[in-house]
Amino acid sequence: MEECIFCKIIKGEIPCFKVYEDERVLAFEDINPVSTGHTLVIPKRHAKDLWEIQGEDLAAVQLASKKIIQAMRVLDPTGVACVQLNGRGVNQVVMHYHLHLIPRISGKPPLPITGWELRQGDLKEIKKTADKIASAIK
Ligand code: 5GP
Ligand code: ZN
Repeated sequence: MEECIFCKIIKGEIPCFKVYEDERVLAFEDINPVSTGHTLVIPKRHAKDLWEIQGEDLAAVQLASKKIIQAMRVLDPTGVACVQLNGRGVNQVVMHYHLHLIPRISGKPPLPITGWELRQGDLKEIKKTADKIASAIK
């Protein structure tokens, strides 16, 4: 994983603004913050995405994210978007699993990522898709 930028941050080869660390997890501020407090939570063991990450690391990331959003109350957020992209097709840029914690700060405009349009889907198609996924679950 020579080229992985987040592995380099974990090793201390690239600096970061750290907010939390434990034996499995590191969390630090995003250098291109969508909002004040935009934080990335990553496993220390390299895994590309949700398909690849091991259960214990995923659980550790989630537990850390809970601690961090509790602490984010100091920023007076009206909400926190927890976003995680899997794959180039949905614009994952850094191929080391990371959970974005993006607070919307009181008095600031809505976050662009939280404003998708709700349109009623075709219920038959939704059911067909649900059945297809459900039957593939191992
Ligand atoms: P993705 O689109 O993969 O979910 O998001 C990757 C995120 O990593 C982006 O929000 C980007 O700003 C952030 N990022 C990329 N390189 C660095 C870096 O060297 N340091 C920090 N702190 N964040 C980074
Ligand atoms: Zn990595």
